[in-house]
Amino acid sequence: MLNLSSFLEDSARRHPAKDAFIFQDTHLSYAQVNGAANQIANGLIANGIEPGDKIALSCLNVPYFPMVYFGILKAGGIVVPLSVLLKQDEVAYHLQDSDAKAYFCFLGAPGLPMLEEGHAGFVATDSCKDLYVITAKPTDPSPIPDLKTLGMLMNGQSPVAETVATSAEDTAVIIYTSGTTGQPKGAELTHSNLALNAIVSADLFKPTSEDTLLIVLPLFHIFAMTVMMNAGVYRATTNVLLPRFDAEVVLELMEKHKVTFFAGVPTMYWGLLNYQGDKVDIGGISDTLKMCLSGGASLPVKVLEDFEARFNVEILEGYGMSEGSPVVTFNQIESGRKPGSIGKPVWGVEVKIVDEDGKEVPNGEKGEIIYRGHNVTKGYYNKPEANVKTIRNGWLHSGDVGTKDEEGFFYVVDRTKDMIIRGGLNVYPREVEDVMMKHEAVSMVAVIGIPDDQYGEEVKACVVLKPGQEVSSEALREWTKERIAAYKYPRVVEFLTELPQSATGKILKKELRKM
Ligand code: ATP
Repeated sequence: MLNLSSFLEDSARRHPAKDAFIFQDTHLSYAQVNGAANQIANGLIANGIEPGDKIALSCLNVPYFPMVYFGILKAGGIVVPLSVLLKQDEVAYHLQDSDAKAYFCFLGAPGLPMLEEGHAGFVATDSCKDLYVITAKPTDPSPIPDLKTLGMLMNGQSPVAETVATSAEDTAVIIYTSGTTGQPKGAELTHSNLALNAIVSADLFKPTSEDTLLIVLPLFHIFAMTVMMNAGVYRATTNVLLPRFDAEVVLELMEKHKVTFFAGVPTMYWGLLNYQGDKVDIGGISDTLKMCLSGGASLPVKVLEDFEARFNVEILEGYGMSEGSPVVTFNQIESGRKPGSIGKPVWGVEVKIVDEDGKEVPNGEKGEIIYRGHNVTKGYYNKPEANVKTIRNGWLHSGDVGTKDEEGFFYVVDRTKDMIIRGGLNVYPREVEDVMMKHEAVSMVAVIGIPDDQYGEEVKACVVLKPGQEVSSEALREWTKERIAAYKYPRVVEFLTELPQSATGKILKKELRKM
């Protein structure tokens, strides 16, 4: 028997009074969060939820998330985390596709502007009448940890619960891919997938109950879920929750709570690096910060180096995906690290770079990244064709192009689907982006393919300049041309004030292509 919620149970037993989650001025201890999760589990069971039932959860980074997440798991249910940014039709698709029996939706938090009309919480009741919906509206006057809004479910329920027995191979979470290649698919992650990934992740950054983590990555995404909810709770860290990225607020919270670990996507490191205000003492923050983790997209070496110099802390970059629970490779303390690489496979995971026939390519050559091990999803829910295509002989085919060097470090070249084919030649946007990031005026850049009559596709760079810096598109084009093969440099350079980002903070190339 294995139930992921045992991480919370165990930390509540060992550190009952320790702060588990901090949100604004509210501190919730491990005993409180565990008690609330037990009440939710009892409430779910009393309302007819049975082991294996799927329950969707749309929630900002507020303490409801861990309470409901662990409550569902304790009841033997399957958590289906949904992005808070989904619109009506998307919510309906996800609820139907996952066969969700219930839907928890909390999109409010004091001090936060209301999410737009049309987001999940405002439409849930209409689109899924037969589901059991609990919605907390942003206008709700009660502070977040006051459980009144969950009262309907929790009323009269005991804060003690017998965790429903689940087997290690039972699904714990169904996590949806964002759907860049068709309809979103729900990857089924088992208790064993997630528990082992939490242990492997905790082994990478080695948090203890003396540590404080700050998470602004959305908890509905697998990166934050694993780092904070699974690895952090397993090691009984104190976890500071922030629902929306703002460099100044992140830095203020780091200072106030003496944060020791931060996990983010590259755009967040870029945002923190470029913070120009004088409200915080960067020196003080550096003194307490022990390590940062980056993943989700490639971290430009320039951003890594400048961030490390400014904050006097190392960033460990890793590679993962929803289907890999998520961690596949990481730069690790013991085996060393290489900026620009995604490190080496984590314990229990094998990684290969293969050609189109599935044959391993020599070191240094490009091919698809495939992996197998304890982290591989048991498959997409109700999508047999996608499973046959993605998981072959136990190897998960990532759809990412990568290389491996002589020392065993892996590199992501790019996503197969982002590759540009210009006149029959492959251009990997990331390579062009890395070069352009070195220009002194460039703050951020995303390279995409645009339709072209002559070459099929042409290379275009969307550039955000550093404040106060100027360069013409022609000059930047020429500068890049001198540093990269002729077929790769961007024929079109467009300046933008910002780049579109996903809820996780990843740059949305599909939006740029649409623009
Ligand atoms: P979808 O796969 O549907 O487009 P998504 O981006 O939300 O959605 P995730 O599972 O969040 O899916 O992200 C996985 C992908 O993120 C990987 O396949 C890879 O392309 C990219 N990625 C993750 N870590 C890194 C990294 N360190 N460097 C480069 N790319 C990375």
